[in-house]
Amino acid sequence: MDFETWWLVFVPILFGLGWVAARVDFRQMMSETRTLPDSYFKGLNFLLNEEPDRAIDAFVEVAKLDPETTELHFALGSLFRRRGEMERAIRVHQSLLSRADLPVADRENAQFQIAQDFLKAGMLDRAEAAFEAVRETRFAIPAMRALIRIYESEHDWPRAIEAVRRLRALVDEPVPQLVHYQCEQAEGALQGKQPDFDRAGKALDEADNAIRKLGSGQQGMYASQARVASLRARVARMQGQSEQERAYLVSILNSAPDYVGLYATELLDSYRKLGRDAEGVAMLRSHYQQHPSLDIFNVLFRVLREQEGHLQAWAFARDALRAHPSLLGLDKMLEVELQDQGQNKEGADTVGVDQVIAGADLSLLRSLIHRHTQRLDRYSCSSCGFEARHFYWQCPGCNSWETYAPRRLEELK
Ligand SMILES: [Zn+2]
Repeated sequence: MDFETWWLVFVPILFGLGWVAARVDFRQMMSETRTLPDSYFKGLNFLLNEEPDRAIDAFVEVAKLDPETTELHFALGSLFRRRGEMERAIRVHQSLLSRADLPVADRENAQFQIAQDFLKAGMLDRAEAAFEAVRETRFAIPAMRALIRIYESEHDWPRAIEAVRRLRALVDEPVPQLVHYQCEQAEGALQGKQPDFDRAGKALDEADNAIRKLGSGQQGMYASQARVASLRARVARMQGQSEQERAYLVSILNSAPDYVGLYATELLDSYRKLGRDAEGVAMLRSHYQQHPSLDIFNVLFRVLREQEGHLQAWAFARDALRAHPSLLGLDKMLEVELQDQGQNKEGADTVGVDQVIAGADLSLLRSLIHRHTQRLDRYSCSSCGFEARHFYWQCPGCNSWETYAPRRLEELK
């Protein structure tokens, strides 16, 4: 090996350089440490001892002594917001914003932070203005998302729709709730003494567009289609177009079979208006065979009871409950029977239910069952668990969309 001894000269030189570098770093660190206020170390100490409240007080002290510490201000602000101390969070961010020398990037950040404070504090007007103020900055996308949520919570559908359009211009992401904004818009147009069919129709066309944009892979698309079809049916009904109404409702059988139960009454009514009652009942019965649901069962039992009498209705119910045992189904069935008995006390109906289930005390039976079924007779939000007697497209508990299955609790178990 060719080794030259004079190379060894470098060893002490390198060692010396390392020693100098270490000393310089150490000195620099010491000088920086001396500039930090005592409160900073106190704060750290409290943090290490798991005393967050006292740590915060110490850090607030640092921030007061040294207003230049923007990072500390941001950290404190978001900490206060997380802890729900909104007034303090807003004050910290306001003090940052009031500084004339604050760099643009920090100013934008402070504006975005204070917007979130206002939102969390429920000061929607101020949150809206603060988010609008950062829509041309790097916070544009989260600001648009927040604005959509604000308009949605205010039920300001036109502005929610506009905000979605603005978000789409920034980023290509699906916004499934847009369909429902359009549907809400359509419902609004149909309310009141002078319904605006044009506006409702346009909103529903937009809803269809939104469904198409979501693509076939999106979950919940079937639910949206059911809602749009049911609204189109409502428009047709209000305009006296029975055949169209029927066609829209029938389309739900194929596009969203699980949702038919929600519209079963309207569906049968539309057939009745056209004088095609039997056809409607037959179709709903065959749909029930493939997609059994309590709502369809109730509607069918009631209508069979009216049109074909006890025996036919009970025969249907017996088969249905045998195939899909349901206490709630039995409960609803008995309710119809008891109502009917009440109405026919005068003896107009000669075939009594006692001939169908001889000796049974119907009223007692029903009250026993009803006590158990009450809590099962609800729709439930899959996101927050909020239970409701009515079906909702938007959960009143957590404001999520399409989190209610079109089935009662008993059917979900
Ligand atoms: Zn919910």
